[in-house]
Amino acid sequence: MVQMAQMVCGSCRQLFSYPEGTRQDKCSCCETVNFVLEGFFLLLMSVSCV
Ligand SMILES: [Zn+2]
Repeated sequence: MVQMAQMVCGSCRQLFSYPEGTRQDKCSCCETVNFVLEGFFLLLMSVSCV
């Protein structure tokens, strides 16, 4: 079973659900492709540790 997470669309600010572990997903409201920030923060953390 896929766990769902939620994020706010950067375009229309609607909260929508996406399957956890995905890198990007389309907003169900305006169909803007949003990138999942979790991976971005992990990348920043790994850079700052070097
Ligand atoms: Zn949207």
